[in-house]
Amino acid sequence: MVSFCCDNCGKCCVSLGSYITVERQLSERDYYCKNGITGELFLVHVQGDASGEIDDDFALSGPGVSGLRKSCVFLRKNPLGSGQICAIYPTRPKICQDFRCYHAVILNPADEIVGRMVGKSDINTSDPKLAIIWKDKIKPCFQPVNHSPGEKREGFSPEDSMWIEKVSSILEPFRYRIEKAS
Ligand code: SF4
Ligand code: SF4
Repeated sequence: MVSFCCDNCGKCCVSLGSYITVERQLSERDYYCKNGITGELFLVHVQGDASGEIDDDFALSGPGVSGLRKSCVFLRKNPLGSGQICAIYPTRPKICQDFRCYHAVILNPADEIVGRMVGKSDINTSDPKLAIIWKDKIKPCFQPVNHSPGEKREGFSPEDSMWIEKVSSILEPFRYRIEKAS
């Protein structure tokens, strides 16, 4: 099993962030926030140089809204390089701590990670051979699980072992293998 590794692309913060609202400002760097999905209330502390920008956004948008931006109000440009960073990373809510944008990785015969299984039945990969196998042989096999009460369970859930085993069996002849991410 490989460890999940976030590369700070910030994509999840665009959709997740719209549920994170700032309820009250306690100081220039401290806010009381709410997770709109679970109702969880949590305190956050802003790190680094983004505190002024966040302060300004909060002054304009007011309490109970997720800010004027489409993405999370705490998602800010990385001052040290490319990409975006979470300005409240150590105090980010549980929903963000638990989030995994991929649930398994695919390794090539040299044991290099060449793909990440994301969403229901998709893959992120820059390996052209793997991309073709996925499109032609794996993607068409995915049938979502049938949740109708009383009916026989059919199909797959993206993270369940039956789906991972199915994908493994298709990839094995091509000498790719899967490891679940923890
Ligand atoms: S969890 Fe995934 S989508 Fe979110 S920032 Fe990290 S790599 Fe990007
Ligand atoms: S709190 Fe941080 S990790 Fe969570 S959505 Fe906002 S920027 Fe992303």
